[in-house]
Amino acid sequence: MNKVLVLGAGQLARMMDLAGTPLNLNTKAFDVRIDEVVHPLVNEYKFGDLQSGIEQADVITSEFEHISHDVLEQCEASGKLLPTSTAIKIGGDRRLEKSLLESCNVANAKHKVIANHEDFTNAIEQLQLPIIFKSALEGYDGKGQWRLKDISQAESIWTDMEEFVAGAKTSVPQGIIAEQMVPFDREVSIVGARNSKGEIAVYPITENHHTNGVLSVSLAMPVPTKLQEQAFEVFSKLAEKLDYVGVLAIEFFQVGDTLLVNEIAPRVHNSGHWTQQGCDTCQFENHLRAICGLPLGNTELIRPTAMINILGQDSVPEAVLAMPGVAIHWYNKEKRNGRKMGHINVCGNNEQELADKLSQLAEILDPLAFEDIKEFATMLQARVN
Ligand code: ATP
Ligand code: MG
Repeated sequence: MNKVLVLGAGQLARMMDLAGTPLNLNTKAFDVRIDEVVHPLVNEYKFGDLQSGIEQADVITSEFEHISHDVLEQCEASGKLLPTSTAIKIGGDRRLEKSLLESCNVANAKHKVIANHEDFTNAIEQLQLPIIFKSALEGYDGKGQWRLKDISQAESIWTDMEEFVAGAKTSVPQGIIAEQMVPFDREVSIVGARNSKGEIAVYPITENHHTNGVLSVSLAMPVPTKLQEQAFEVFSKLAEKLDYVGVLAIEFFQVGDTLLVNEIAPRVHNSGHWTQQGCDTCQFENHLRAICGLPLGNTELIRPTAMINILGQDSVPEAVLAMPGVAIHWYNKEKRNGRKMGHINVCGNNEQELADKLSQLAEILDPLAFEDIKEFATMLQARVN
């Protein structure tokens, strides 16, 4: 079991390959945009079509959930796909996701499924404003979302949504979920792995900060036991229900001491990138271990760590690399506005040291490209002092 085929040829497949190589795992990636199997680090190296990729692989997995159902079925037919196509499809459709949460009795935001204008009007009546409308399919990085704060905006939002639904290029009919806005204190996520023996290893929950709807910073520090237990319970319920194998991520809204699930991602996750420097075994290695039937690696936090996304930039000042406890991971992507180009992991021996390093970074990084780092560093300084 050492030949892995990843559906998707982006940064997640790249980082899986980088993490699996020391274990002699051989990873290839299926680029859905060109319909070809490629090398995950050097996309110019091509290996042929999906069917031959499937035949040559021992195990097939996925780096994203918006994969055509035909491709998923083709992979599942080989008996090699982990996690299952059911789990991947649930992560790609908010309607299925919500029914999974309901069936597991897991707390989440009050919501309604919308298929037509009547549902839309009913949802506005039954949920309290503000309401957030999310496309059931194709949503990522805050795209395909509408926020209704005042009833006067309702019809123009409907017109916009109707157009979006009509223009959907999905193999499954598009739809909308209306969700009550949650007045959360913070957003956190749990990333963990489950293997085919049913063993589970989760990382400490991570605090996530968004800028313009996109994750900008994740923070991993020691977590209150009760909160970690709550997240673990949700993780095990969902992972067991899906008979899940691989890494699974769950995003939460924290309100007081309670966690409400926002969404799940059946894959390695941006909010788990810090594990590359903050843990013995990173999420990418643990995902491969889980799907290849290997023992799961240690997921304990070994040092407080923060991850900063590099968006739309293809360089940062060299002084960043010169800082001890700082690592840069580039994705070898062409520069595009707002695109996830890489990330910076920052570690401290303790929380104060991490806060100090973030303050130092905030002085070095371009404030236009890293809008909120200064504010984030100041917030963390206040918290650890
Ligand atoms: P990503 O790909 O970054 O995870 P996404 O497009 O899948 O994003 P969500 O995670 O559902 O979408 O929403 C993006 C952000 O919008 C959330 O991280 C949160 O900040 C805000 N948001 C979403 N739903 C709600 C809600 N019900 N109440 C309050 N804020 C919300
Ligand atoms: Mg999200």
